[in-house]
Amino acid sequence: MSNKSCRYTDNTQQAKQTTNQVLQRLNELNVPSTPVHFTLLYEMVSQTDPEFAEELSNLIKHHDYTDESVRPLFRELLKRIINQHLPTDEVSQLINEVLEHLENWSSESEHYHQLLIENMACLQACQTQDKVMQCLNQNILPPIQKITNNNQKLQQQINDSTQIIKKLKSELEHVTTLAKTDSLTGIPNRRGFNELIEEQIKTVQSEGISLCMVLLDLDHFKKINDTYGHLVGDSVLRYIARTLHAETKGHDAIARLGGEEFVILLSDISYQNALNISEKIRHRIASKVLSVKGHTLPLKFTSSFGVSQYKARESADQLFDRADRALYLAKQNGRNQTCGEHQL
Ligand code: GH3
Ligand code: MG
Ligand code: MG
Repeated sequence: MSNKSCRYTDNTQQAKQTTNQVLQRLNELNVPSTPVHFTLLYEMVSQTDPEFAEELSNLIKHHDYTDESVRPLFRELLKRIINQHLPTDEVSQLINEVLEHLENWSSESEHYHQLLIENMACLQACQTQDKVMQCLNQNILPPIQKITNNNQKLQQQINDSTQIIKKLKSELEHVTTLAKTDSLTGIPNRRGFNELIEEQIKTVQSEGISLCMVLLDLDHFKKINDTYGHLVGDSVLRYIARTLHAETKGHDAIARLGGEEFVILLSDISYQNALNISEKIRHRIASKVLSVKGHTLPLKFTSSFGVSQYKARESADQLFDRADRALYLAKQNGRNQTCGEHQL
């Protein structure tokens, strides 16, 4: 874990020593052992942030370490911890704003609440109805109104922040999806595939179903690019992605691993059926004829396949390695064919 994502880097032994000192401090200061005090004192003892630790030390030195006095410091610490984990300045700024609104709301509410309690005493001392009305109008209703306004203001600020948070969340989801998608074909890329296969393996292990991997590599694709140009090559790659999509079912997964190499994960299927599907796709690709502007000869292309079946408890890499070696065999044997791991 990097230092950015982990504030406390003490090893077990150091953490134990720090904790003992913190407990001793809690005892000396005679404050409750709440997470607030524990965390603050841990910060101080461990000197995680020397400047922050000094601020706390000063409070203790001046006998001013109380529930009340440390509250803003704890909020400040929360801000720092949250900021440390935030990916973007925009999110960090938003959190700071929300914390600031809460802090303002909290101190204003506390002020008017205190005022109200004090003015209640004056109400009790009123002898006549006129005096009661006067006290109500002058001393009681204004702080109540202020508290109500303060609550409404916070409500509005929270509503505004919620809108921004929703927008950021959807932007983040969009960016995350983009990072896992191949821009040329619109199907998952290698990064997306790495996630998919781990999910599939988990499902296979928990539900006891079978899983097969089919690797596909276009044959002599370089020649297609050289003869017809890169744009035509790109449209062949898009055609392959569409074909894989059409030939697989909902719980199967497809991805472009890079260049002209694709992968299909077939779940709940026998090894023999995986070979059959692979052959079906191979035939479909081999029988496709594309006419290209400016070329008299139609464009035809073939692909080679390698198939492997998941073995209990093995890693994704092991499954991939057998499919890759089977694919290599298919290439060596003359291309435009499927080889399975049983031939290795
Ligand atoms: P083999 O049958 O042995 O697989 O031969 P091949 O020509 O298909 O394999 P090779 O690895 O020699 O060449 C792959 C080619 O794929 C080279 C590269 O220019 C092309 N390629 C990789 N990515 C893209 C892409 O995004 N678009 C296009 N048009 N071509 C690509
Ligand atoms: Mg190739
Ligand atoms: Mg290749």
